[in-house]
Amino acid sequence: MTEHEIKIAFNEYHSVEELNAGDYSLCMDAVDALATSHSPYSKFKVGAALLLQSGKVIKASNQENVAYPSGLCAERVALFHWGTSYADDPIVAMAVTAKTEEFELLKPVTSCGACLQVMAECEKRQNSPFKMLLYCIDGPVWAIDGVHSMMPFMFFEERLSQAI
Ligand SMILES: [Zn+2]
Repeated sequence: MTEHEIKIAFNEYHSVEELNAGDYSLCMDAVDALATSHSPYSKFKVGAALLLQSGKVIKASNQENVAYPSGLCAERVALFHWGTSYADDPIVAMAVTAKTEEFELLKPVTSCGACLQVMAECEKRQNSPFKMLLYCIDGPVWAIDGVHSMMPFMFFEERLSQAI
């Protein structure tokens, strides 16, 4: 028997003002994306923004549906948009934020497992990691270098992914 240990390192910034100009701007793009959220059921708006190597920014938000499972998280709306239209332009960073009138958010929102799986495959697809910025409005920002560190046991089978 061999015991293994996995450690995850991330940086916490106490406010968005501590970030460099590029990361700050991407967090503000995620805030802008909240305006397009379609979330009448959860009343929980999520905004995501992708910074691509060319400098282009893709903004997206969560899109709910009365048939609940038909909706999609902001992160995957953004990533699938990237995959269909900009996959030749690697993702450098992704910012995610959230807002609700129902209660006060005190820490950054973290992505669901399905989104982490998709993010991790996007990293493999472009053969380079991207930075995650999880931003709590008026609160801290968690910065993680590489999605793979949040999803160390992601499902991946090389032989199923010859096209990647
Ligand atoms: Zn998700």
